[in-house]
Amino acid sequence: MSLWSVFARRALKNIFPSNEVSNAKRIIPMLLEQVAVLDDPALIREAISELSKTETKELAREVLRKRTDEAVEVLRACDSCRELLAGGGYDPIELLETLKNSIGKKSAPMDIDASGRGGSQMGQGYETRIRFGPLDFLAGTSLDGMTVRESQIQVILHELAHAAGDVIPPDGGNPAESLRNQRRITRACLPETYERIRSQKSVDRSQNKNISERMEQGRHQRKRNTHT
Ligand SMILES: [Zn+2]
Repeated sequence: MSLWSVFARRALKNIFPSNEVSNAKRIIPMLLEQVAVLDDPALIREAISELSKTETKELAREVLRKRTDEAVEVLRACDSCRELLAGGGYDPIELLETLKNSIGKKSAPMDIDASGRGGSQMGQGYETRIRFGPLDFLAGTSLDGMTVRESQIQVILHELAHAAGDVIPPDGGNPAESLRNQRRITRACLPETYERIRSQKSVDRSQNKNISERMEQGRHQRKRNTHT
């Protein structure tokens, strides 16, 4: 753990004496940097553990705004991502920018709400309703090997894909399909991340193979030892 992350966690715990939303908003730019530095689910959970519900929600909203801007940048820069998300007839950049501007407003089509958990979505286009649970959004990871930040961008684009004409299959209550959709979005929109976690998996597999080979050798060794 870096010295900076220790400092960040202490600071996070100390600078939030009040439940006031206005206080939360004043301090959030600093918190944002710290949450970005931590980028580890356990550290983030610990860092925000002493925030009130309101503070956690406001922080999650700010992180959602920031990551939505990054998701818009992904859509602008990445052809495969933009083509996938445009498949339902919506302009995904316009749609996502509109959703971003609604965050925190009454009856917003996209917002932070405990009911959202890891991400929930219904309705189409500008009439959609997307919700992310504050804790799940701040400290959640989706695919193995992804950073928190990558997961946040993935989950925004994932719910956008459902809202933009279900350009990925509906997956409500179907964890296997949801996982496949997470991979679809990551492959199309975060190709470098996709390759990294794929090669990480094959490294894991070959390490497991080495370990099981060594265990096998050990078993033979023991057998031989027993027999001699
Ligand atoms: Zn989904």
